[in-house]
Amino acid sequence: MLEVHDLQVAYGPAPALWGVSFVLRPRELLCVVGPNGAGKTTLIHALAGMLRSRGGRIDFEGRDITALPPHRFCEAGIAIVPEGRRLFGGMSVRENLEIGSLLPAAKAYRAKSMASVLALFPALQAKLGQAAAELSGGQQQMLAIGRALMACPRLLLLDEPSLGLSPLIVSEMFSAIQRVNAEGTAVLLVEQNVAMALRVAHRAYVLEQGRMVAEGTPDALMQRDEIRRAYLGS
Ligand code: ATP
Repeated sequence: MLEVHDLQVAYGPAPALWGVSFVLRPRELLCVVGPNGAGKTTLIHALAGMLRSRGGRIDFEGRDITALPPHRFCEAGIAIVPEGRRLFGGMSVRENLEIGSLLPAAKAYRAKSMASVLALFPALQAKLGQAAAELSGGQQQMLAIGRALMACPRLLLLDEPSLGLSPLIVSEMFSAIQRVNAEGTAVLLVEQNVAMALRVAHRAYVLEQGRMVAEGTPDALMQRDEIRRAYLGS
């Protein structure tokens, strides 16, 4: 569904991704884990069209989208839940959700999408008229995911959805992500919370210093001593 070949991204003279290649299969919940500064956010931004690549190629559903203008990525079926949520704090929860479905194709399904987002995150129902800034951290993350889902994406990109949330809320969030995936949306998740990410992913890659250094099912990765030592504390 998504094929990334030899992707290179740099900030000025400083490379952040050094020729990253990977595939995401249809309906897959794929996870990219790695330490601070490995390049996870850079990868997500490149896949959402927010950063231009210096080299390499991104194919989505058989189409080369490497040079697609940033504002066309959403239309192409890719939505991002950015790190730190980036909600419109002064606007209501309903308005934040509606903003997710501004494009004509998504707007036609707005009522249906709103109903499925509220079924996924019932806590948002009572908050629809409230300003996004007044929500708890967990509810804000739900809203950020809901806003992305309002665009009816076929690929959902999530950047560190566990950041700053309590373990219980993280667990609820990941269950919701699994449900979204089970209903047919492919998911690419980048995470520092390796234990949680490996619990839900079908398959995972390990990104270190801008390079993919390992790939496998969660079970296979967890059997590797160096991965367990580096990421799981054992
Ligand atoms: P974190 O979990 O801390 O967000 P990450 O794996 O997402 O880490 P990135 O944020 O993608 O990593 O950063 C990858 C590299 O690119 C790091 O060396 C970082 O310092 C550098 N970098 C990131 N953003 C910029 C920027 N705007 N300008 C210059 N360098 C940047």
